[in-house]
Amino acid sequence: MVLKMDEGGVVRHVDRADCPPDAVVARETLRLIGSTNEFAVRLCDAPSCGMFFVPRRRNQEWCTTRCGARVRSSRRYEASSRLE
Ligand SMILES: [Zn+2]
Repeated sequence: MVLKMDEGGVVRHVDRADCPPDAVVARETLRLIGSTNEFAVRLCDAPSCGMFFVPRRRNQEWCTTRCGARVRSSRRYEASSRLE
């Protein structure tokens, strides 16, 4: 399915069998990112990750428990090095 504007300026969804897979992935990604739903896509805040994820909980900050563990470990290390 693609968006197509006719001669009258009206935009319609048009089914196209030859729609390239990349275009479908791009459209669905934009739809997911553009959603106003609070459970829509978030960016993982862990250092050197940068993955997008769909949270399963309201307060989920990281894409995986591994990223969460890495962040907590790094925070503990920074806190302990400030005490020295
Ligand atoms: Zn992550």
